[in-house]
Amino acid sequence: LKHKPQPSPPGLGNKWEVDWFSLASVLFLLTFSPLIVYYFIMSCDQYHCSLMDPIVDVLMGNSHLSDIWNKTPFLSWKAANIYICWVTFQVMLYILVPDFCHKFLPGYVGGIQEGAVTPAGTVNKYEINGLQAWIITHALWFVNAYYFHWFSPTIIFDNWIPLLWCANILGYAVSTFAMIKSYLFPSNPNDCKFTGNLFYDYMMGIEFNPRIGKWFDFKLFFNGRPGIVAWTLINFSYAAKQQELYGQVTNSMILVNVLQGIYVLDFFWNEAWYLKTIDICHDHFGWYLGWGDCVWLPYLYTLQGLYLVYHPVQLSTANAVGILLLGLVGYYIFRMTNHQKDLFRRTDGNCKIWGKKPQYIECSYTSVDGTKYYSKLMISGFWGVARHFNYTGDLMGSLAYCLTCGFEHILPYFYIIYMTILLTHRCIRDEHRCSSKYGNDWKRYTTAVPYRLIPGVF
Ligand code: NDP
Repeated sequence: LKHKPQPSPPGLGNKWEVDWFSLASVLFLLTFSPLIVYYFIMSCDQYHCSLMDPIVDVLMGNSHLSDIWNKTPFLSWKAANIYICWVTFQVMLYILVPDFCHKFLPGYVGGIQEGAVTPAGTVNKYEINGLQAWIITHALWFVNAYYFHWFSPTIIFDNWIPLLWCANILGYAVSTFAMIKSYLFPSNPNDCKFTGNLFYDYMMGIEFNPRIGKWFDFKLFFNGRPGIVAWTLINFSYAAKQQELYGQVTNSMILVNVLQGIYVLDFFWNEAWYLKTIDICHDHFGWYLGWGDCVWLPYLYTLQGLYLVYHPVQLSTANAVGILLLGLVGYYIFRMTNHQKDLFRRTDGNCKIWGKKPQYIECSYTSVDGTKYYSKLMISGFWGVARHFNYTGDLMGSLAYCLTCGFEHILPYFYIIYMTILLTHRCIRDEHRCSSKYGNDWKRYTTAVPYRLIPGVF
């Protein structure tokens, strides 16, 4: 059974009970997430990125909520056109241009790749061409910015709030469509998960891998593009705005562009590996992924660059170097930890980790149909330091982005706060799953590697 694909463990059937706490969380997130995004972007637009000033203004009676709303730019035809062109272009790059990068880039895995086995036992094929889409998009952007001047490189910043309405329309449309589709024409009915609770199903999704036709996969497309391809362009647009406003780009802005650029490129370089991560392997496609990828990610993951447009911070060389090192070390830990697990699982433990044969804990679990499977949990390398050291690296990188902005305002620190909550919750969620999957073997593993994120602390 060594290399046999392994379906999901018991408990991942297609009928789930929703407890009141999950339902309350879902209702809270559905209601407040769009407001949080609006509040952050509006605070920058109207209050120079202060999160307190709008509240103080309203409480002191200096402003009414309606004043703030009236000053908010509305949806414009220009923004709608930009957004439609953007999404259409990304869809075309995704479905019409087969990957050629893997033909000449050594070590890059692209082209047609298989995903993990779904709970119903299906193995989906994916066209991995995100790196190519990223390169083509950015090449066109630079040709425009420095040669043809079809549009200003500040175009994203200049239309940021009208574009927010477009992103929301797409986010809600795609989540609603995915919900309707799962009832009327699901891509794989056996992989649908119904709880009977409309709100929960809308948010967490019913279909596992909704598709249109053979290749248009909702999860892969919306997770990676248009949001993550846009991430680096959004940052460039902020840098261009700094140049326009102040005649120079600060070192903090360059750091944000470089560190987040590495993260984005890493994502596309490893897009095939991404098919095996929790998002694709365990999450269903609903509002959480659909709206989250369209709105939450491009708007809140890029807050540091936006902040630096309003508050251009010039860091001392020592601070800049320190932040760069923190970001690079974080990235190294994040990448190497993910790489070690990937190598370990691919070779079934027949590899070297830090120059030695890896140690591991043998474990077993029983699938829905009663078949027993065997697996291994590595306790060498970074996986022996903590059970989720990849998350720790990710958090170090996230902190580095925030530190570029100095300490005047809390807004740019939203990212590290959010990532800490997201990854801690993810860690607990994953461990809960692993514990019910592996039972006693998981206990042996947690005894061997007692800490989750920071050795000696948590
Ligand atoms: P992991 O890559 O950590 O995968 C967890 C799974 O790995 C477990 O469910 C288990 O699966 C297996 N596993 C756990 N321990 C071991 C071990 N010791 N040896 C071998 N296999 C083990 O989780 P994610 O998919 O969540 O994260 C992937 C990356 O994506 C992370 O680096 C994370 O930081 C990043 N990320 C970034 C986000 C962002 O918004 N920027 C959001 C989410 C993730 P099995 O059932 O196969 O045993």
